[in-house]
Amino acid sequence: MNPQFLFYIIIAILMIDFAIDKVISHLNAKHFDDKIPKELDDVYSEKDYFKSQAYKKENYRFSLLKSGFSMVLTLLFFIFKGFAWVDNFSRSYSTNEIIVALIFFGIIMIGSDILSTPFSYYHTFIIEEKYGFNKSSKRLFLIDKLKSLFLSAAIGGGILAIIIWFYQMTGDTFWIYTWLFIGVFTIFVTMFYSSLIVPLFNKQSPLEEGELKDAIFEFSKKSGFKLDNIYVIDGSKRSTKANAYFSGFGARKRIVLYDTLINDLDTEEIVAVLAHEIGHYMKKHVLINMILSLLVTGITLYLFSLFIDNAVLSQALSVDIPSFHIGLITFGILYSPISEITGIFMNMISRKFEYQADDFAKNQFDGSALISSLKKLSKNSLSNLTPHKANVFIHYSHPTLLQRVKNLTV
Ligand SMILES: [Zn+2]
Repeated sequence: MNPQFLFYIIIAILMIDFAIDKVISHLNAKHFDDKIPKELDDVYSEKDYFKSQAYKKENYRFSLLKSGFSMVLTLLFFIFKGFAWVDNFSRSYSTNEIIVALIFFGIIMIGSDILSTPFSYYHTFIIEEKYGFNKSSKRLFLIDKLKSLFLSAAIGGGILAIIIWFYQMTGDTFWIYTWLFIGVFTIFVTMFYSSLIVPLFNKQSPLEEGELKDAIFEFSKKSGFKLDNIYVIDGSKRSTKANAYFSGFGARKRIVLYDTLINDLDTEEIVAVLAHEIGHYMKKHVLINMILSLLVTGITLYLFSLFIDNAVLSQALSVDIPSFHIGLITFGILYSPISEITGIFMNMISRKFEYQADDFAKNQFDGSALISSLKKLSKNSLSNLTPHKANVFIHYSHPTLLQRVKNLTV
């Protein structure tokens, strides 16, 4: 294929992807002022509903600005041969392909981080602050930023170096070794996420003795779920938004509650949320998700291995010396329409699993307690109760509040 033609395909993919995204957010925004469905009319007071509308609109305008800015910069970077420039710069420091790739991605990452930081700063300290969600200090924001940068440099850089090394050693079959390696790494992270990564950002402490702990243990015993670890995490140091999640598996599985969740909900409601999380585990959702994502990773890596040796991937970005890292960028963009589709598919499965976990909570515990907790959580995060269908279909990993309430009421 002609490199020039491939370049135009890349630009077309970037622009079409952007346009589709804008059309969907526009459709979604047109429903910001819809009347709340009667099943949800007890979620917001009139005052809170106005507040939620203002919040949605502000976030919408903000995301338009942010994505527009990033789209313009991305296009300029492609048109003015930015990748070739960064590649030449990286090659002036080393002839080792792994080092060159690390410098290359390091520059791209730090550059895009510098450009996106003003936006995340504005989002946290202006928008979230205005609606009373933000609890983070500027100092914490900066420390978080540095820790995440360090973490992604160490983990991302390490993985990249290993993959390129596999490629150098084994050529076309590198994808098999990479796949195995990513599989082992994913299992490792799933098991040790709570004990290695979370403590870098949050404090976790075992749930203290009392009514809540008794109620949770009573439920887990009744439903046949062997539960040893319930932790409380200090989410309140960053935001008032509440959450609960499940992590690890086997003996390392644990349930983590945000301290904000404990503040916002009563005992029955918290147990209902946990019953939902336990439902995910009992229905093997954690395992199925992991297998599916490994399958997708395997297919992607295999397809990548078919193209990686082709110098056109690098020439399309005006880079003379073909390399793994430039090939990766071009392939990433060419593959993005497919990954959009697999993403939609994964969201469909995820929404199905959410219904199943809700059903588990309803059958094993109490549907109405789950409904009232979901409503409170939606109210406290000022969520959009009237999203557009297309937006839900593409972006939502959970059914809408209305769909969940309807499912729990039948
Ligand atoms: Zn869930």
